[in-house]
Amino acid sequence: MDSPRQVISHYSIKPRKSLGQSFLIERSIIENIATTANITKEDVVVEIGSGIGVLTEKLAENAAKLIAVELDNRLVEVLKEKFFKYENVQICSGDILKFDFRTITVDQQHKMKVVGNIPYNISSPLLFHLFSFRKIISSFVLMLQKEVVQRLVAHPGSKNYGVPSVILQMFTDLEKVMDVPAVCFYPRPKVDSSVIKGCFFENPKIELLDEEFFIKLVRESFSQRRKTLINNLKKSKLLEGVAEFVLKETLVYAGIDPQRRGETLSFEEFGNLSNVLNNKIKEQF
Ligand code: SAH
Repeated sequence: MDSPRQVISHYSIKPRKSLGQSFLIERSIIENIATTANITKEDVVVEIGSGIGVLTEKLAENAAKLIAVELDNRLVEVLKEKFFKYENVQICSGDILKFDFRTITVDQQHKMKVVGNIPYNISSPLLFHLFSFRKIISSFVLMLQKEVVQRLVAHPGSKNYGVPSVILQMFTDLEKVMDVPAVCFYPRPKVDSSVIKGCFFENPKIELLDEEFFIKLVRESFSQRRKTLINNLKKSKLLEGVAEFVLKETLVYAGIDPQRRGETLSFEEFGNLSNVLNNKIKEQF
């Protein structure tokens, strides 16, 4: 196999920073990602940002079908040339944030797996995009900026804990797999990276009366990080019409001191609070 450096120079491609183009050059990392993704002969895999196909090649060894989604048309051409003989690889030109995973057919037993060394500037929208297809995606293995992974796996009370931590932890088992230094990529990124694996649960870990309400509640609770829960929630549109004293009573009833900050609540506490508030609103209106 030619090195990524040779491949892009052969095609006279200048890597684009704006598209987060840093290609993996360290073999052991590529193998580790593939092992972590645990692809079997039944699996349909979507790879995000396939670049020049180094990871694609490894993933395709086992997959029943691999859909490689790549935005840069210069690289789409490289991929098409490289994989035209592979019957199980389909190259898809386009933006992953607009990609509708429902266009890929999978059965309930074999939901699709998502893998990617992704452009870091789309990490957050991408995670929420994947989250919105959680019923048909079983797991994801992603290379992300190290700090983003720290945030996703953070525990309540830590400065890294935030909206994505709570929401993903409610619906996903998350595990940091490894740190990956910048020397493992060409061109070298300015930041360090980590690989994370997530497995979506069929249902949230705490039974929720209304999933959308839960997600909105978490967002509102963090809208001003330094503010107490009661101060964030009393201004929230979500709880419009609920008097402050009722809100306070409801928080206490849910076992949560209204003076706590959102960042101190675990996903279980948010889940419980969401259900109690839901019932309160139904009672009131
Ligand atoms: N997986 C390859 C390339 C990683 S670089 C490797 O490890 O070597 C990130 C890749 O994502 C680039 O190829 C870039 O063109 C692509 N990309 C950037 N934005 C994208 C988007 N919105 N949708 C799909 N691919 C994107």
